[in-house]
Amino acid sequence: MLDTGVKLVRNVSRYNIGPSSLQELAPLLGVLRTTLRTGKQHSGVVFLVDRYFQEDQSIKKKVSFTEGDTLRFIDSRDEPTTDSIDQLVADLRNSGYGSPAGVVGMGGGTTMDCAKAVSNLLTNGGRASDYQGWDLVRIPGTFKIGIPTISGTGAEATRTCVMTNRATGLKLGMNSDFTVFDHVILDPDLSATVPRDQYFYTGMDAYIHCVEALSGSYRNAIGDAYSRETINLCRQVFLDDDMMTAANRERLMVASYLGGCAIATSYVGVVHPLSAALSVVLGLHHCVANCIVMRAVQEFYPSAFSEFWKMAECQGISVPIGVCLDMDDKGYRALYEATLMHEKPLTNALGSKFREALSFEKVVELFRRM
Ligand code: NAD
Ligand code: ZN
Repeated sequence: MLDTGVKLVRNVSRYNIGPSSLQELAPLLGVLRTTLRTGKQHSGVVFLVDRYFQEDQSIKKKVSFTEGDTLRFIDSRDEPTTDSIDQLVADLRNSGYGSPAGVVGMGGGTTMDCAKAVSNLLTNGGRASDYQGWDLVRIPGTFKIGIPTISGTGAEATRTCVMTNRATGLKLGMNSDFTVFDHVILDPDLSATVPRDQYFYTGMDAYIHCVEALSGSYRNAIGDAYSRETINLCRQVFLDDDMMTAANRERLMVASYLGGCAIATSYVGVVHPLSAALSVVLGLHHCVANCIVMRAVQEFYPSAFSEFWKMAECQGISVPIGVCLDMDDKGYRALYEATLMHEKPLTNALGSKFREALSFEKVVELFRRM
């Protein structure tokens, strides 16, 4: 049985919202630096920023970088692994940033998840894999600030940071109240430069999560409320002529945040397990993998299926196809196992006898449609 009730929920402590709100970062860091300078801690700030901003000559000015801070660009071509996080933490420690005044993560889900994990590890010690699971982080991390530059995953709001453990094949985050950002800056100006297809794929993560949550059997009033409004905002954005107007970028930033809040109190369904299998077996990124899975789920989510493809058409977005056609039996077996291991969402969507609905042949048929 799954737990349906909401007992205790931790949200982001504070956030700024609106165009140009990145300007609020300077005073915020000023306070952090001053408070901590009186104690024994290092006063420098660790900035983890998506590699896209490497080309931006004024990035240091934008984030109010000062002497004594360190800025590392995160290569979001690869989603975080426990090894890549451990390496980053060791590198920060070795260069004198073992106890900084704050950790700032600026980018998409990949970069924000790195920042959350690094912040937790700097104070808790040990390795990233030690904390993969539920409530294993012992003490609060370094003060962490999240600044999304692309919207949809909700990583700015959730209590997890997804990491793949290459040794065990486990894709699991540090699910903990201590993983939630202390402060988030939601500045829609920052997502203006996202390529259109990526904007669509990532934005759809919010829509898909909430569709899955609202179609499941394990529900609660607050999760439903967050999910309904997330879907509502996504419709306004993706059924509009241009999903990337300033107003729509702001709507999607809010949808992403609310979708993240929804995740905390609900379960996903059939799409995410199939998508996770595409990520683990074929290395496809989370958000594009979700969109690929949408090709195969008409029978589970008929109205969302139609609406999703209407939105893709409306925005002129193409979703990859045929990604699982050239696979042998061993490959399909790996996909099947990587899907069926997600028992909670599958139970939420299909009931406790989900294995009967998802035989090996059935799952192969679904993947062949992608
Ligand atoms: P991402 O961080 O992987 O970035 C996607 C691409 O967008 C990258 O190429 C990046 O360089 C580019 N980009 C980002 N901002 C840009 C900008 N302003 N202009 C131009 N390009 C920009 O993207 P994502 O889809 O947000 O994140 C996916 C990750 O999020 C996955 O690792 C997934 O596991 C994780 N995730 C986490 C949670 C959570 O709750 N923590 C939830 C869902 C997904
Ligand atoms: Zn997702």
